[in-house]
Amino acid sequence: AQKTVLITGCSSGIGLALAVKMARDEQKRFKVYATMRNLTRKDKLAEAAGRTLGKTLEIKQLDVCSEESIKTCVSSIPDRRIDILVSNAGMGLIGPIECQTIDEMRTVMDTNFFGLVRLLKEILPDMKKRKSGHIVIISSVMGIQGILFNDVYAASKFAVEGFCESLAIQALKFKLQLSLIEPGPVITEFEKKVFEDGMKMDLSAADEETADMFTNIYLKNYKQIFQSLGQSAEDIAEIILAENPPFRHQTNTLYTPMTTLKYADPNGDLPIDTFYKMVFQHDKIFSASLNFIKLLRWRSRKSFDLGNPSQ
Ligand code: NAD
Repeated sequence: AQKTVLITGCSSGIGLALAVKMARDEQKRFKVYATMRNLTRKDKLAEAAGRTLGKTLEIKQLDVCSEESIKTCVSSIPDRRIDILVSNAGMGLIGPIECQTIDEMRTVMDTNFFGLVRLLKEILPDMKKRKSGHIVIISSVMGIQGILFNDVYAASKFAVEGFCESLAIQALKFKLQLSLIEPGPVITEFEKKVFEDGMKMDLSAADEETADMFTNIYLKNYKQIFQSLGQSAEDIAEIILAENPPFRHQTNTLYTPMTTLKYADPNGDLPIDTFYKMVFQHDKIFSASLNFIKLLRWRSRKSFDLGNPSQ
């Protein structure tokens, strides 16, 4: 039978690419409810959906910051049946915390974290009753590891990860599947908007050294990081559609060496030290990489020893 899919944040980026890809599935396995906060922005999706519009793809309004809007949308779906929920809507925020208001930070938490919580409060009980359902959450590598000047964004994605890790245990009892998708940089409107907001940020509340670090180190390298490591929204959509995704799925193999630093050193100093050297002491990056390789070698030898006590 056709599976019903609800995706949030489909006016652009990963949400749009995924909605279209699923709607265009050759075997017509999916009926996609592609939702967005503001329906006046639906043209791009409608155009990309083409002939699937009104057939395997329907566009609906849903603002993840409004319980009312989520309720209305879910209740408009036949039998409220959602087989696959993709929690994708999200926003970024960069810069020194001295220059951000608590309200701006709250909006990020409200969208990225409470947006997911609101969706699940409405949709999870039905999935539990049916003992079937798949919840796909677009998290980020920043849900595993913090990065300079992304303090609040990383916190919002860490919140998502902790929430899902706890919920996954209960979900298993109800035969529900949870998948966290953790992209590195993806070239979408997200990246453009975050960069533009960063460029016009009022830095007067920050000291000179911090303002200079943000403008002349962080923003200067921002575009280059996306150009050299960036994936496309279509790449991410492809990965989401893979069979049997694991609980955590990092999409970008070019980025995994960075997150591996975190798992390699439970004390947490290794990733922080490496990021510090990458940002502030380019000449020391070589020795930082070398330390990392040494540590990996040491760890693999240790586990080898443990597995083969006689050697
Ligand atoms: P995007 O800006 O193109 O898409 C995000 C979408 O969410 C937009 O369409 C936006 O309108 C929507 N949205 C924001 N607030 C909303 C709300 N209250 N209700 C409903 N929709 C709302 O960017 P994207 O890169 O496609 O982002 C999708 C997801 O991927 C986000 O959760 C983001 O955190 C995550 N992500 C992005 C990157 C990246 O580098 N672009 C990397 C890792 C994770």
